[in-house]
Amino acid sequence: MVKLTLKRGKEESLLRRHPWIFSGAIHSADGTPEEGDVVEVFTASGDFIARGHCGIGSIAVRVLTFDREEPVDGAFWERRIGAAYGVRRALGLTDSTDTTCYRLVHGEGDDLPGLVIDVYGTTAVVQAHSVGMYLAREEIAEALRRVYGGEKLTAVYDKSSGTVPPKSGVEAVDGYLWRSMPSDAAAEVVSTAGFVLEGGNRFRANWEDGQKTGFFIDQRDNRALVGRYARGRRVLNTFCYTGGFSVYAVQGGAVAVDSVDSSEKAVRLCAENMALAEPSIPHREVTADALAFVREMPREAYDLVILDPPAFAKHHKVLGNALQGYKRLNAAALAKMPRGGILFTFSCSQAVSREQFRTAVFSAAALAGRRVRILHQLTQPADHPVNIYHPEGEYLKGLVLYVE
Ligand code: SAH
Repeated sequence: MVKLTLKRGKEESLLRRHPWIFSGAIHSADGTPEEGDVVEVFTASGDFIARGHCGIGSIAVRVLTFDREEPVDGAFWERRIGAAYGVRRALGLTDSTDTTCYRLVHGEGDDLPGLVIDVYGTTAVVQAHSVGMYLAREEIAEALRRVYGGEKLTAVYDKSSGTVPPKSGVEAVDGYLWRSMPSDAAAEVVSTAGFVLEGGNRFRANWEDGQKTGFFIDQRDNRALVGRYARGRRVLNTFCYTGGFSVYAVQGGAVAVDSVDSSEKAVRLCAENMALAEPSIPHREVTADALAFVREMPREAYDLVILDPPAFAKHHKVLGNALQGYKRLNAAALAKMPRGGILFTFSCSQAVSREQFRTAVFSAAALAGRRVRILHQLTQPADHPVNIYHPEGEYLKGLVLYVE
């Protein structure tokens, strides 16, 4: 195993258990590690400090363990995935009858940097965000089978083609790493045409064609809150994707729901999920640019508006533009709200801090000339935990505003 030695003093963040080592912190290596190899890291004085996956980007090592006595072997994967499972069990997610999809592994938040695993019914969908995790996918699938046992897991699907770093040259192909023999019952639960439940609502989850791992699980708690505010309101759900917020609005007693997304495929998925919700109220699914839609819609057309755009800032270099984007979008929506209207507004950009997002929304309120109170400050749900030593893991920020 290649040994890397840090520059003097560069162990400080690691002593605080931050799980990333940047390339600038490395002094030397006793060999030439390949991207994805497990490497060992030593301080300038020769003390072991970490073992992790080697990368070629600015993050040179993603730490898997700070324990010299913990090798990265089959037992390691089983222990880590077992610990993640224990947390979801404590949250009531592994045996819930009204929520059958949840995040099992949330990267650094579960001490597995570079790995995301979502569970849909009895299928686990694995996404590797690093070459190291991609190379370990078979061991990960094996550990999943051991942790879940026979009945609770019938398939493991690898969906890493869009997440493995493109510069690595690794050509990931999506597909099943494992599936149980297709008895009729198993085939049905494995089938991508199956439904999952979230808060008792039915959703079509499609991990083979959907964005990310098929469904945005991270808005579960916030959708439930929309449900609580929906009664008697006309709801607009922009950037609707699979229509999660729209379905909860129906369930919560909205009097009309319009859903907007620029992707035709998303609008189709949303329409399918709305059909499953069997709404007895008027609803429309519209393919349009959300900002243009909001700018062109009549004033006071909706009493509850949801803005959940994709990450405007994927990295710090474009932060300024992203903040402008949030300001423009929120100002356009606020300007159209009736008195007593409710705005749910989100940012999922990791590069945008909670403070910065709030400031952008504050500027938007000032620009639109509206009085606004913050009713709730929202974040990601507990199955997307934040490693306390890696605060960057807290990416989802939301505000619920009461507009006067
Ligand atoms: N609110 C969704 C997740 C939103 S993901 C949920 O609860 O699951 C972001 C969505 O924004 C994607 O579906 C994408 O197609 C859509 N999108 C991206 N740019 C857009 C634009 N300019 N106008 C409307 N939708 C857009």
